[in-house]
This record gives sequence, structure tokens and C-alpha cells, in this order.
Amino acid sequence: MRILLEHFSKSFGAVKVIEDMTLEIKDGEMLALLGPSGCGKSTTLFAICGIHRVTSGRILFGDRDVTNVPSQERNVGVVFQSYALYPHMTVADNIAFPLRIRKMPEAEVKRQVEEIAGLVHIEGLLGRRPAELSGGQQQRVALARALVRRPNVLLLDEPLANLDAKLRLEMRSEIRRIQLETGITAILVTHDQVEAMSMCDRIAIMNAGEIIQIATPQEMYRNPRTAFVAGFLGNPP
Ligand code: ADP
Ligand code: MG
Repeated sequence: MRILLEHFSKSFGAVKVIEDMTLEIKDGEMLALLGPSGCGKSTTLFAICGIHRVTSGRILFGDRDVTNVPSQERNVGVVFQSYALYPHMTVADNIAFPLRIRKMPEAEVKRQVEEIAGLVHIEGLLGRRPAELSGGQQQRVALARALVRRPNVLLLDEPLANLDAKLRLEMRSEIRRIQLETGITAILVTHDQVEAMSMCDRIAIMNAGEIIQIATPQEMYRNPRTAFVAGFLGNPP
């Protein structure tokens, strides 16, 4: 689904964090929000998923204005750096949780959980608890839980930050594979330019609450609009 931020601003008290941001995420694309720590990436994601109210501006999911729609009614899938799995529940129950709180019949819950477990390659882990999984496996479970309701958009906030270098490489391509297989619209928040370039269709580069440039990785690399963009991208991967 296409996501549109129109003249989006967000302040905390007197502090303006985002000012007049307009950003379109196209249906089915994976877009990176790339920028240094503190530039407002997470604040933007929180506004899209409805955890934060916007100070001004509008948010559209397709043609629907969701600016004042509560978070639980937006059907957004989120994966954060800390996976926040429920430690006392099995993998299957973790994934089923978003379905059960919406009173889906049990036979249908089981079918959906098995289908999504197949997609993220954790079929053999459904009976385990989170403490019995590796970091990469826990992240696959978090992805499965985020995707099980077939959300309008998948929001990933620095999802690879807690993984070691080898797993990070593996999960980069796995997340991209899953995004392409499902065709879901996705936003990846990261401060890692190589991650953004290797995983995403387009990159929106941010600094101090503003989008400086939006382009495909190739275009941005070939034609950085400002010295900040060129400096931030550094050397090609
Ligand atoms: P990023 O994800 O790019 O690292 P954030 O969106 O988390 O950046 O934060 C952007 C700015 O907004 C920072 O200066 C941060 O201190 C401030 N900020 C974020 N959340 C809050 C909050 N709840 N209250 C006050 N200031 C906040
Ligand atoms: Mg952040």
C-alpha cells in the first residue's frame, strides 16, 4: 500500500524534531530512511505507526487519511532493534498473539502461523521459547509476528543493530527476500549506508529532521545533491 506523509511536523514541547516533511513510499517498495543518530528517523516511524501523534500534517495509507486513527487500527507491522518477544510464550504463541487478540478462530490462527513460519523459515522452532533461540532466529520470529496480519506497511527500526557481523549479512538478504516475496511496502530505518544501499529500492537521506535527497542507491551515489549526502554515503559497498 502507498504511504504518504504530507507536510508532517513533530515537536516535543518547544523542540521541533521534524518540520514540514513530505514523503511518499510507493506501493510495494522498500524505502530506507538513512541518516545520523538523532536526525528524526524513529520519530517518523512512530508517527506512521501511530505511537506518536503528529503536531501537524497528514498521514495517508492509500487514499485513507489515518492521521487520527489509533495505532491498533492502522494494521502496521513493526520490528525494532530489541525484538520484544514474549519470553513466557512459545514461538507459535508469540506469532499468534496479534491474531488471537482479534479473536480469529483457532483453526485459522494455526493455518496462518504455519504459513508465515514457512515464509521466514522457522517451521522447526514453533514449540520453543525465545530464550532457546539464537539472535537471528529471534529476529525471524519478530518478523513473522509483524507480518502475520498482512499489514499495510512493515516498519523496521534498526532491525540488524543487535546482530553480529555474519548474522547481519544473512538477515539483510533474508529481510529483502521476505519483502520481495510478500510484495509488502516497507520502511527500513538505519544509520548504515551499506545496509540501505544493499536492501532498498530507494533511499531517503535525512539530516536534522529534514529529507535532503530521495533517490535510488545508484542515482544517489552517482549524483549526491549536497556535500552532506556525499560525505554520509562514503565509499561504495
Ligand atoms: P533517530 O531515530 O534518527 O536516531 P529520533 O527520532 O529517535 O532520532 O530522535 C530525534 C530527536 O528527537 C532527538 O533529538 C531526540 O532526542 C528527540 N526525541 C525523540 N523522542 C523524544 C521524546 N519522546 N521527547 C523528547 N524528545 C524526543
Ligand atoms: Mg532511532
